[in-house]
Amino acid sequence: MDKKLLKFLSTTEGTLSIIKKAPPSDDKFRKLIKKVILDEAKLLKNVLLGEDMIKAMKFGYKNAVLGFLHSAEENNRFLIERASLSTFITHTTDAYYNALKNMDWHKLVDEGFIIRSGGEALTKIRKYSGLREVNGITIFLAGRPVCEKHLKWEDYSMSIHEIFSELGMKKVKKDIKCKYCKNDAKYFTLAMPKASALIALACETVNKKSNRLLKIYANLSRILHPYGFTDIEKDVVFTIWARDLLMILSEINELLFPCNFKKGRGSSNNRKSALQFLKDWKSRKNSTGNIDSIS
Ligand SMILES: [Zn+2]
Repeated sequence: MDKKLLKFLSTTEGTLSIIKKAPPSDDKFRKLIKKVILDEAKLLKNVLLGEDMIKAMKFGYKNAVLGFLHSAEENNRFLIERASLSTFITHTTDAYYNALKNMDWHKLVDEGFIIRSGGEALTKIRKYSGLREVNGITIFLAGRPVCEKHLKWEDYSMSIHEIFSELGMKKVKKDIKCKYCKNDAKYFTLAMPKASALIALACETVNKKSNRLLKIYANLSRILHPYGFTDIEKDVVFTIWARDLLMILSEINELLFPCNFKKGRGSSNNRKSALQFLKDWKSRKNSTGNIDSIS
């Protein structure tokens, strides 16, 4: 592989700080990325929302080949969102999946059932239960307390009595009041996490640090707004998108397959580069461990 390309793929800085330094990609590199995508697709086939993630990689590839940076990176961002949502639903409750399927998610958001950050959810969970864990029961505590009269979204709610008995706590620690009136609350209705909260909470459920994924996500968002970067050459666009894709795959494989992909061995940031992902991918694929063929 080209020396400049290798060097670029070994960087782990945010996309914005290296975007102007990206070298053009070549045909060989594009073919390699295609193989990586096909391989990842095999892993994702049986994962919740896996089809969406496969499409995000394939559409991203097509757009990157054509030099459409925005569309390509939008797909990378979608890949992060879907992987986080998949992990989050798998480790909490299918009610979130139903809210998606029934297209109730945005209605709940419009009514204010929103988790704005991972920290906000964790604070509420701790406040009501003293626990730190995010699971299918505690996640209700990050939602809104409502009384019998104000219970509107029954399918996405759990009774307070049931929540605490599932948690093995006999008594509710605090007086919990309905969000809409002064009466005692009887239920908690789930709140829908915003994208960044979703990433943080998904990581929390598998005990993974969320800072890298959040940083990649924030960088991608800023490419779309406010910077734009509409003047980048086609072959360079592919390099930028591909580096982001490989770093994202390295992160989401830890989210989706925490047993198979061990989290950050050592503290070295190097282990998280796109190049490192390619090396690991190659050695997984090839039991003889012919890592040198990449560089
Ligand atoms: Zn009420």
